[in-house]
Amino acid sequence: MIDLRSDTLTLPNQEMLQTILSASLGDDGRTSESGRGEDPTVNALEDYAAEILHKDSAVFFSSGTLANTSAVLTHSKPGEKVLIEPLLHICKSEKVVFSQRVGQLHQVEYDVSDAGKPSLASIERQLKKNKLSLLIIENTHNFRGGICLGADEIDNICNLAHHFGVPVHMDGARIFNASAFLGTPASRLCEQTDSVMLCLSKGLGAPIGSLVAGSAQFTAELRKTRKLLGGMMRQAGILAAPGLYALKHNREQINYDNIHAVTFANRLKGLSRLFVNRPVETNIVMINTENSGITAEQLCELAYGRGLFIRPMMKDIARAVFYSAINADDAEQASEIVMDIDRLLMRR
Ligand SMILES: *Cc1c(COP(=O)(O)O)cnc(C)c1O
Repeated sequence: MIDLRSDTLTLPNQEMLQTILSASLGDDGRTSESGRGEDPTVNALEDYAAEILHKDSAVFFSSGTLANTSAVLTHSKPGEKVLIEPLLHICKSEKVVFSQRVGQLHQVEYDVSDAGKPSLASIERQLKKNKLSLLIIENTHNFRGGICLGADEIDNICNLAHHFGVPVHMDGARIFNASAFLGTPASRLCEQTDSVMLCLSKGLGAPIGSLVAGSAQFTAELRKTRKLLGGMMRQAGILAAPGLYALKHNREQINYDNIHAVTFANRLKGLSRLFVNRPVETNIVMINTENSGITAEQLCELAYGRGLFIRPMMKDIARAVFYSAINADDAEQASEIVMDIDRLLMRR
């Protein structure tokens, strides 16, 4: 079975697992005045992340959802308005900051262009019309097929928001996939954003963990929010050690995931009924069934029967995600399976 459901399927290798056994540990929940805990491995991970992102400091979380939630709730108070687009992971999947039971924030929407990029004109309109506590962007964009925002595009959005006194949070769960595609350091991509979240547990290959980086003042508040939400951990160095290994050793290899995704998508250029949403820039490929007479769910069933495991993301869009366990041969085989299904649909 070629399993392309998600890059969260990456498993730690022996070398990464070894780091757990030799990690120096302490109680990360026992904090100094500055808010830092006593686990040296967590501190090393946070410092390394801050260093490569050129931010004052970073905070370790058990999940991307908790990381995003803590960041957004640090920027905003209940009842405030946040400028978003509905296809953000935070809105479509996580939902917690806009839930009436938890975050109690209100959504104000910005439009996106045909290319899936935030519209500056629309953002400006909403900034003028509303008192907003935060603007959120996502890079790469999961539900839009892994497309990237470049440094200039991000700068323009941030400059506009900052002009109105509104901070910007970037959900950079896959920021290193964006960095590899654009040829731009991750630090440059988040240079103007007030906070940035990244996942260690996706293409980077760590078993668990995410980070949020930002200014010293912001991250000090962020640590308080994390504690409020029950996100503080104790000997979290056993999670931070493989996370640190991932950040040090696996950033470069992410480019291959992007390349395999593009190889897969390019082989599907001649499809008759199914088609791939373009452009394919990073490790996510969206296969569109809207002209095929079947739903994404049905496509996934047909694929599963032929040895390819993919999942529906929307009614007529199935997602294939590439990660380190998937090699060029797998990508080629996976494309053969999709072509086979396309031929079947043509005969129907
Ligand atoms: C996976 C993901 C998250 C959340 O990460 P979890 O660790 O699964 O909670 C946030 N944003 C985006 C864009 C993601 O793809």
